[in-house]
Amino acid sequence: MSLDSIKRVAVIGSGTMGNGIAQVLAINGYDVDLIDIRQEFLDKAVATIGKSFDRMIKKEKITEKDKETALSHLQTSTDIAAAAKAGLVIEAVTEDIGVKVGIFEKLEGLCGPDTIFASNTSSLPITQLAAVTKRPGKFIGMHFMNPVPMMKLIELIRGMATSDETYTVIEELCRKLGKTPVEVNDFPGFVANRILLPMINEAAYAHMEGVASIEAIDEIMKLGMGHPMGPLQLADFIGLDVCLSIMEVLHDGLGDSKYRPCPLLKKMVQAGYLGRKSGRGFYTYDK
Ligand code: NAD
Repeated sequence: MSLDSIKRVAVIGSGTMGNGIAQVLAINGYDVDLIDIRQEFLDKAVATIGKSFDRMIKKEKITEKDKETALSHLQTSTDIAAAAKAGLVIEAVTEDIGVKVGIFEKLEGLCGPDTIFASNTSSLPITQLAAVTKRPGKFIGMHFMNPVPMMKLIELIRGMATSDETYTVIEELCRKLGKTPVEVNDFPGFVANRILLPMINEAAYAHMEGVASIEAIDEIMKLGMGHPMGPLQLADFIGLDVCLSIMEVLHDGLGDSKYRPCPLLKKMVQAGYLGRKSGRGFYTYDK
């Protein structure tokens, strides 16, 4: 198995992450099959990719011709069977173990034995997802960061059975895409979320306990620690429901009370205050 054997990549899920992943692959010359459950989601994803390319043209990072070539590499489908010819499948669907397991079971029957399967999950165990396939050695976590075209990091997660060969091929691919892969083992939250989310959770506790206002907490972390965004503003950007679910994964998976989700975070999610996407979180936004 070598990187050269991967010419075609299927990306399953065309939401926030999937369309960014498809964009980065297409601009780097890969044939991409972008797959989702509804054509309208795919049309929206292709429009988002087009706009992102336009911004890159304005900044003179790519030419109009590069955009055209990249878009000509991109196919969309509502049928998962479109993944059959891929040398690599990257799954980026909704963070739900049942949905992801269903997809990998279907892919197992569709793809050739050499196809590598990757999941962009933020928090689900790579080892558990790999175990539903007959190729756990050819299964890996590729945790891209949001927004994908801008962010350099990819956490590369080795499941218990991920082979060195799979790891090496995907590591090379990340570099070819202009990204920096960093090796991580499969533990709850991997590294990025295991460290980031407890900080956000602690910021919510600090606010709940009346230590300081939302604005003060964010100001302290920006000016004092050099963070580009305060933790509560970042929580709104990520989505408070997503933050809560990652804290639950850390709490359940590591069994340590230090990961208990902040009651204020729970209450806000129950109220539908999900952050930027719902118009209200720690801050209020124009919809
Ligand atoms: P999203 O909700 O924006 O997109 C998910 C897409 O998956 C939707 O378009 C949905 O229609 C599609 N989908 C659902 N079921 C499907 C199926 N059976 N077949 C095909 N498509 C299906 O979600 P997102 O934010 O892009 O997250 C996707 C994955 O990436 C999740 O596992 C998430 O944890 C992970 N992730 C997200 C971020 C982030 O900041 N948003 C960062 C890193 C990783």
